[in-house]
Amino acid sequence: MDQYGLSPDKPIKLSDFDPDDGEGFKSKSDAQRQLRKDLLRIRVLQEALYAEHKQSLLIVLQAMDTGGKDGTIEHVCGAVNPQGVVVTSFKVPSAEELAHDFLWRVHKVTPARGMIAVFNRSHYEDVLVVRVHDLAPKEVWSQRYELINQFEKHLTANGVVILKFFLHISKAEQKERLLDRLNTPDKQWKFAVGDLKERGLWDQYQEAYEDALNKCTTAAAPWYVIPANRKWYRNYVVARIIRQTLEAMNPQFPQPAEDLSQVVIED
Ligand code: AMP
Ligand code: MG
Repeated sequence: MDQYGLSPDKPIKLSDFDPDDGEGFKSKSDAQRQLRKDLLRIRVLQEALYAEHKQSLLIVLQAMDTGGKDGTIEHVCGAVNPQGVVVTSFKVPSAEELAHDFLWRVHKVTPARGMIAVFNRSHYEDVLVVRVHDLAPKEVWSQRYELINQFEKHLTANGVVILKFFLHISKAEQKERLLDRLNTPDKQWKFAVGDLKERGLWDQYQEAYEDALNKCTTAAAPWYVIPANRKWYRNYVVARIIRQTLEAMNPQFPQPAEDLSQVVIED
């Protein structure tokens, strides 16, 4: 999975990443079989993480509209005990949120010890949509990359492991998915006419993403560019990376506080 992780000293071009990537499997069902194994393992590791109550995991999901953030959450996070996971979807900031610094609403929902937090969009919107739509002056958003790096460093120094996934789809794939939303009654609720305006700004968004990925890949909190045109491959890669990360965190079930060997439970 290393091929999808960025390094701080090696800036990337998004155009060098193929959203259609998905090789290495004889069939889709091979990948799905592996995904199921990884999810079972993630479930056990998550339980140990929760029981250990020392470290936590933050998963940031960013993508263009229809990129698959919701689907990834459903498939990957649906497999773990819901008590140990908190999902936050970041929307257009409220008046109260706008009255504070841009990280205020984010810091409040970072994961407590033992927990996994998933961000559906994140503080990165403040250097993406805000930049593309001039919602703040350049002097303001351009400082945020460094502020984000400092914030994430603060979190990692406090036991939070951070995974940041950019679900990378092509513009042609987005068209297919928008058409599908438009033509499927049960999916129409997800279709926002405003998404077409965002689609018109595709190149500006890719540029803003490229900058965010490059400027905010640190050793402690790297970005991953996930090939996301094929949903099964996207799920497989994301689950694989989460599994590997949790294995490396190596959470341990705590030892009982007292000797339990003499405990008798009366009838
Ligand atoms: P959705 O994810 O489809 O529910 O849409 C959420 C919307 O909120 C998207 O259009 C985001 O760009 C927007 N959004 C999220 N965070 C911010 C932010 N910090 N500033 C402005 N818009 C935001
Ligand atoms: Mg949307």
